[in-house]
Amino acid sequence: MKLVEPPVFNYSNETIWRSNVDTVIEWFTVNNLDFIALYFGEPDSAGHKYGPESTQRKKMIEQVDRTVGYLRQRIQESGLASKLNLIITSDHGMETVLKTNEIHIGALTNFSFKDIQFELLDYGPVGLLLPKEGKLEHVYSVLKNAHPKLHVYKKEEFPRRFHYANHSRITPLVLYGDPGYASRQYKVQFNKGEHGFDNEAMNMKTIFRAVGPAFKQGLVVEPFESVNVYALLCELLGIVPEPHDGSLETMKPIIEWFGLEGTLKIIQCHLLPWAGTPPTRPGMGQPQLLWATWARLSPPSQQRGSS
Ligand SMILES: [Zn+2]
Repeated sequence: MKLVEPPVFNYSNETIWRSNVDTVIEWFTVNNLDFIALYFGEPDSAGHKYGPESTQRKKMIEQVDRTVGYLRQRIQESGLASKLNLIITSDHGMETVLKTNEIHIGALTNFSFKDIQFELLDYGPVGLLLPKEGKLEHVYSVLKNAHPKLHVYKKEEFPRRFHYANHSRITPLVLYGDPGYASRQYKVQFNKGEHGFDNEAMNMKTIFRAVGPAFKQGLVVEPFESVNVYALLCELLGIVPEPHDGSLETMKPIIEWFGLEGTLKIIQCHLLPWAGTPPTRPGMGQPQLLWATWARLSPPSQQRGSS
């Protein structure tokens, strides 16, 4: 079952958010689904448009917080609390776009788009370039030290931790800007917030919160990579994962019990791209509102050791 947003969609309509929550609860209670992913496009949109530190983005965080409250209220009212596991996470943070010393690829000395067969720029900090035949070394040398905030690599030399160097869809030249610096073709930059910067940058970190019978209560763990969430979901749903780059080992400390196939329901809620300076621990900063209201609502019906 699915509900798809129309092509032009107002991501910030709180009434629609609540109606989507109601739909999800109905799918669990009436249609007896085991897993539902629910997506909210905010505060991503507000972060892009107004910047992560803006009042508009902070207002949107409050709206998100109200919606999480509504979701949890509906879970309780519908009698799902003892068997539903709720995960709230996102896929990125948000960084303020700096408007001084911007990177405009088209304006860099000796660079010409005539040397480029294909480019993917203007989509945040990462740029992909396929130079025309015989032009790779020239374009590389022209761009390599052209801007102090621009990093330019041949694909195979791109730092391994980004997992780009071996991928067939990555072009021979890869560029990325330091946090705050988005690379553009020309001087066209509307966004005040952006993501896609180095995932080691603190403002690119996101959140992970989980509550339900499968999860330990009141536990704070060290940061982990989001790629592990897939392994967690598969474990909780009792299904064999497809090949992936995550690890269940990383997630085991947060799991209260394993393998209650058939009775488990999960809602994974893609809700909250972090924006602005994130807290180092839950309980500090804005997520406090969310965290403080979270607790396991009933003990697990069955305890098992690690599988
Ligand atoms: Zn975005």
